[in-house]
Amino acid sequence: MSKFYITTAIDYVNDTIHLGHAFQKIAADVLARYHRITLGKDNVFFLTGTDEYGQKAEKAAKLENIPPKEFVKKISDSDQKEQDSLNISYNRFIRTTDLDHAEVVKEIWNRVQKNGDVYSGEYQGSYCEGCEAYYVKEDLIKGKCPVHPTLEIKIVKEQNYFFKWSKYKDFLIDHIKKNPDFIYPAHRAKEMLEFAKNIKDIPISRSNFTWGIPVPARNASHSDAGEPEDSKQIIYVWFDALVNYLTGVGFLKDKELFAKFWPADVHILGKDNLRWHALLWPAMLKSAGIELPKAILVNGFLNINGQKISKSVGNVIRPTDWVKKYGADAVRYYLLRYTNLTDDSDISEEKLLQAYNADLANGLGNLVARVAKLCENNNLNLTKLKQDRPNQILEEIKPLLEGFKLNDALSYVWGSIKGLDQYINRERPWQKELIEANKILSNIVIGSEALTSLNEIAEALKIFLPETAEKIEGQFCGPKIISGKPLFPRI
Ligand SMILES: [Zn+2]
Repeated sequence: MSKFYITTAIDYVNDTIHLGHAFQKIAADVLARYHRITLGKDNVFFLTGTDEYGQKAEKAAKLENIPPKEFVKKISDSDQKEQDSLNISYNRFIRTTDLDHAEVVKEIWNRVQKNGDVYSGEYQGSYCEGCEAYYVKEDLIKGKCPVHPTLEIKIVKEQNYFFKWSKYKDFLIDHIKKNPDFIYPAHRAKEMLEFAKNIKDIPISRSNFTWGIPVPARNASHSDAGEPEDSKQIIYVWFDALVNYLTGVGFLKDKELFAKFWPADVHILGKDNLRWHALLWPAMLKSAGIELPKAILVNGFLNINGQKISKSVGNVIRPTDWVKKYGADAVRYYLLRYTNLTDDSDISEEKLLQAYNADLANGLGNLVARVAKLCENNNLNLTKLKQDRPNQILEEIKPLLEGFKLNDALSYVWGSIKGLDQYINRERPWQKELIEANKILSNIVIGSEALTSLNEIAEALKIFLPETAEKIEGQFCGPKIISGKPLFPRI
């Protein structure tokens, strides 16, 4: 039986998520909702959540003078509220501080260690506290982190456990070459093949802070001579965070769920997280004897009015800021239709407002109001809700959604809205005899051989604009149809 398991990046809890993060969640939500329609609700699992351990969270908590546990809960709750405001239909919102997660991380550590891929060594290197990641000289730009040019790169020297990442170099290169669909879009795969050439072993523990999952005490049965037992070390935040994709779908805790959904079909993540997902994660899984995910989908970033979204620029917008003003579906619509998922896109509130009035208030809202009024005036009696054929819109957008062209899929739906408007203008049901007029109206609501209908549009909209789809279906479920409130009042 077919299934679909999709994950988003889990957001780091130094601050509440903004529109840039929400963009990725909406895209994942669209793919989850689409697969629920085609595969059935029980065959889709959608995981999102928060990444809560590490030095950055510990420091942020200190600044607010509250324990890390309290601090991360506050941000995690607020992230969840932001996602809920957009109707993100996750099956689980995982927190890396969840108790079942620590168990899974320790299990993966033990498996990797048992496979001979963990050793103790001294690390000295460049570390960015912003990324919580080590950098090699070649990655730094003028001695600074490429993502955090305002932060000082620290030279860190400590005794750590290392993961034999370099052992998997050839395996990773081979896997990416043999599986052209593993990394999407393709130019990102090329980047990773370049990067893979320079893979070196990586420290996977830290010892200079305490907010994290401790390295498990060594199991005597596979302890190598010369390597100390050590549970004072904290597991490196990436090694911990990536494992959430296993925990979230029941690894250890719910074997049936895990067997049904693993491997993940799509991990969607920002371009800044790609190397960890495309190279470190598959190496960890290979070492632990677990099947690799099928696809990694890299989303671009959103800029607002031509500028990067950042606290220091002062242009951070939370999803709830826009949802309160325009509604969840208007925000979803704008971010899906006027961006390109895999490229960087520029957004603005002004453009949202334009899209709202032109496409939602005038386009969709106007069509629905017009059809309802005509049906009400003619006292139309609906005897069925749809044609005995597959939904023509779903058939057409299937390859677009499966190729992650979400904006093109939504454009296609809007083409159908326009087509229906033109059909009404051409057929002029208000000038026809009652029987003829009702035949035209029934074509509009439930479709005909040649015409995709309003109810087909509503069904397709369940993928993109769930609240609106429900309202339209509620209004046109028959047998009588009456006018309702406008779906999108003009602003
Ligand atoms: Zn950085």
